[in-house]
Amino acid sequence: MTGAGAADEPMARAAARLRTAGLRVTAPRMAVLMAVSDSSGHLDADTLRERAQRITGRLSVQATYNVLHALTDAGLLRCTRIPGHPARYEAERHDNHHHFVCRGCGAIRDVECTVGAAPCMEPRLPARYDTQEAAVTFWGLCPGCAVPPPAS
Ligand SMILES: [Zn+2]
Ligand SMILES: [Zn+2]
Repeated sequence: MTGAGAADEPMARAAARLRTAGLRVTAPRMAVLMAVSDSSGHLDADTLRERAQRITGRLSVQATYNVLHALTDAGLLRCTRIPGHPARYEAERHDNHHHFVCRGCGAIRDVECTVGAAPCMEPRLPARYDTQEAAVTFWGLCPGCAVPPPAS
């Protein structure tokens, strides 16, 4: 980010995405959408609120949650709920990806969809169960948390 003019383009893009999704364009919605789009990670509401406030000024916790729900409902954000962690948000890319969660540090990384299309996995279910999506969470240790193999 350099100079004030640099912020105009992402702002316009955020506004366009809100309109396309059928949402009213408001400053908090633009700010939260920009905060999510700026990061490649999976951020919780607190972190997003902090980042959005740098763009739009004060934003209450409740306002942040309202915006996150509206953007998620409209299909602009993807919300991932992992037991033991606050809900994480990322830009919805409709790529049907899964997540790996590190048991050591809590880091979350994307895992590509196994077959490239939903529902990705075929559960063993009786006929007439219409599976539409598979959201898989892989648990384990990231390289930073894994115990290094003994040096030989
Ligand atoms: Zn880790
Ligand atoms: Zn993800």
